[in-house]
Amino acid sequence: MFKKILIANRGEIALRVIRAAREMGIGSVAVHSTADADAMHVRMADEAICIGPPPGTQSYLSVAAIISAAEITGAEAIHPGYGFLSENANFVQALQDHGITFIGPTAEHIRVMGDKITAKDTMKKLGVPCVPGSDGGVPDLETALQVGQEIGYPVIIKATAGGGGKGMKLANSEAEMENAFRTARSEGKSNFGNDEVYIEKYLGRPRHIEIQVFGDGKGRAVHLGERDCSLQRRHQKVFEEAPGPAIDEATRAKIGKVCADAVASIDYAGAGTVEFLYEDGEFYFIEMNTRLQVEHPVTEAIFGVDLVREQINVAAGLPMSFTQDDLKINGHAIEVRINAEKVPQFTPCPGKITQYHAPGGLGVRMDSALYDGYSIPPYYDSLIAKLIVHGPDRPAALARLKRALGELIVDGIDTTTPLFHALLEEDAVLTGEYNIHWLEKWLDANT
Ligand code: ADP
Repeated sequence: MFKKILIANRGEIALRVIRAAREMGIGSVAVHSTADADAMHVRMADEAICIGPPPGTQSYLSVAAIISAAEITGAEAIHPGYGFLSENANFVQALQDHGITFIGPTAEHIRVMGDKITAKDTMKKLGVPCVPGSDGGVPDLETALQVGQEIGYPVIIKATAGGGGKGMKLANSEAEMENAFRTARSEGKSNFGNDEVYIEKYLGRPRHIEIQVFGDGKGRAVHLGERDCSLQRRHQKVFEEAPGPAIDEATRAKIGKVCADAVASIDYAGAGTVEFLYEDGEFYFIEMNTRLQVEHPVTEAIFGVDLVREQINVAAGLPMSFTQDDLKINGHAIEVRINAEKVPQFTPCPGKITQYHAPGGLGVRMDSALYDGYSIPPYYDSLIAKLIVHGPDRPAALARLKRALGELIVDGIDTTTPLFHALLEEDAVLTGEYNIHWLEKWLDANT
């Protein structure tokens, strides 16, 4: 087992990894930008090292700075968290060249799944059902119009390198195609340095269902059921739950096995998420994330596992600690993402926290790097806390969420907490009968 690992991230996810390391008796090294000198992950880690100025490109995304930090501190492995370098194949390759272990899959698997076209192609060949659409990249408008005619409108044009809801454009008809095609291409180019796009049938009322998989890198893999992440704003998740209200045991076992078998067959190592849209009883693959997800705690809650510990074990060459038969669902869990944003416009709201109180009690987990007097810097993602509740069933989890939200105090800045208080009054949320478009429509009607 490693003696020391470095966490190439910040905020709540850096704490999450430091906590797992500490429980395993592994030393932790935090890296930070100058803007994060007072951040909680710096305080909590055994060692901390400054890697550059505030902008992410010069600190948390600087491969050279991070490798130097690992070499200076003698860290043997690096956990990337999510975001930043977590799905950067060149980073993984560079670590390998320096003899540092990456806590995650191989550079090759990241590369294949990071390009949405090769990912879809690979998954299709492995027997995973996909959204109907273009066969690979669409080079020009003429081809795009042809594809539109073949699969029927509406269609969605997606940047093959896209992520975080960026580089996706809807075309409701042939007339909208030209504009949507150009915008998706230019967003792909400016955000991800790649203007290749592909086209998919736009589904009218699907749910976002994602399957958590875990592989040992040696041909064994399991699934840990699904998460329903249909409540989204601008294609970004805000509320996630497990198990999915619309998924029964037989459906879970079937799609779970398809995903586990697919990743087992490629010797996938570590945690991964296979994302689907689910409509009228059919699953349609959209992408695979080759890392730990923001919403992984709901899966941890219902299965009683520690996914980060498992990631570290597998990266150290140890076997997985569970088999498929060991994994039984217990109860229901919900996560809400609390952002430093002012509703209803969702404008970022960094600043100083004058008072902070985290909810607690039975079945409540608060993953956050906030503390009294902390100043949230303006340079990074606005996620400041994840509140996760676990109860014996869905109504109990909802009641617990309401109770816990009532205990939360974050003074000095605006947060998205009021959104969740309001959502917990909505029938669609209480019954679980929502789809990926529900929240946008609700926001339009209520703000
Ligand atoms: P990203 O990599 O940016 O997260 P995804 O491909 O995972 O992009 O899609 C994100 C979200 O966009 C989905 O959860 C869904 O809400 C919406 N979406 C993606 N593809 C489609 C589609 N074919 N039809 C309808 N909505 C879609």
